[in-house]
Amino acid sequence: MSEPLGIAVLGSTGSIGRSTLAVIDAHPDRFRVTSLGANRNWQQIVEQAQHFQPDTVVLVDPSAAAAARAALRACGSQTRVESGVAALESAVSAANVRMVMAAIVGAAGLLPTLAAARAGKRVLLANKESLVMTGHLLMEQVRAGGGELIPIDSEHNAIFQCMPAGYLAGATPKGVTHVILTASGGPFRTTPAADLATMSPDQACAHPKWKMGRKISVDSATLMNKGLETIEATLLFGLPESRVDIVVHPQSIVHSLVQYTDGSLLAQLGAPDMRTPIAQAMAWPERISSGVQSLDLAAIGRLDFEPPDHGRFPSIELARAAARAGGTAPALLNAANEVAVQAFLDRRLNFTGIAAVIDQVLQHVEACPVRTLDDVLAADATARRFAAALIEPARGAFA
Ligand code: NDP
Repeated sequence: MSEPLGIAVLGSTGSIGRSTLAVIDAHPDRFRVTSLGANRNWQQIVEQAQHFQPDTVVLVDPSAAAAARAALRACGSQTRVESGVAALESAVSAANVRMVMAAIVGAAGLLPTLAAARAGKRVLLANKESLVMTGHLLMEQVRAGGGELIPIDSEHNAIFQCMPAGYLAGATPKGVTHVILTASGGPFRTTPAADLATMSPDQACAHPKWKMGRKISVDSATLMNKGLETIEATLLFGLPESRVDIVVHPQSIVHSLVQYTDGSLLAQLGAPDMRTPIAQAMAWPERISSGVQSLDLAAIGRLDFEPPDHGRFPSIELARAAARAGGTAPALLNAANEVAVQAFLDRRLNFTGIAAVIDQVLQHVEACPVRTLDDVLAADATARRFAAALIEPARGAFA
């Protein structure tokens, strides 16, 4: 039997990271955790390290890393503990790493994801923000590094599964006219427009179908998640945004579809559980068990579909405009969204203010072409400053 494949799990303490570790745990002959990475949750990462015995643990926060180091030393663990973003980059680039789960939330995941691509690893991409920000740069790094990128987002993973055999992300697929992203509609799918402004962070994070981290839960409530996914789909599948459709499907059973030129629609169905796309991407082109039960279609009975309501949820149109504008516009959108979502979670901005802040940033901060990573980082910083100033209590327009 061949050696288990090394896998680095970034964002191991989060929702996707924990699901990834659950799949690895069920297949010890196939996969071995080489490194774990997170920000500051040292207690949880110490437990994970004791169980999986990786070579390296990285906590970006230095004092959390010191606490993890002391705890692991006290129990005789051989695992090295490091801190900082550069340590994440070298952990994913190590020779014994075959694949990298990129599941740090937000722009913080960008540099290690790029490093994994450059080093020719299989990038299991959950951190959609890094692709939205960098656009073609990340896909070019994947090609130059000689590795692969397999989407973990359930929608893009579903589309990947419905593509012709041998398809690799980044290419323009033959015979495909559109890809269709399904959206659950989020917790406010039927909430009247007049009530949206008063919705609380806990209400926004109470997703009806998926258990996720708080940032992506708010993105699902505003439907910005579908906006980011539209941009992600254009880059993964080489299609203009006009060929990426969205349909609301409240049951979250059909995870997305591919429309072919002969009139066929191919869909992937499954329970709303991220272990399925994670296992698919880790084992591709083979299949392994994910721990998720198959569907009982007769018990489900019906599947509903409806168009998104752009009046109550303007985020999709904002993202489409950024996709059409190109250059750094998606990075501006992403940065403004991250700042606005954090302000909403901190109760410094109301729910409808999130889209309003993004709209203002897109209107007032000029996008430029993306030539290098520095163009992306500069746009990200400018949009963050502009958005923060709009929200800031003393002077902000949306406080
Ligand atoms: P969580 O909030 O549950 O977890 C976030 C993870 O990122 C944690 O491990 C956290 O570490 C780590 N992290 C946060 N900030 C930093 C930082 N500055 N440096 C290093 N690590 C950091 O998020 P999710 O698991 O829900 O989402 C992760 C990514 O996957 C997001 O990009 C999301 O859009 C995407 N995704 C998630 C899905 C889901 O079902 N949850 C579905 C599809 C995509 P710590 O615990 O130490 O703070």
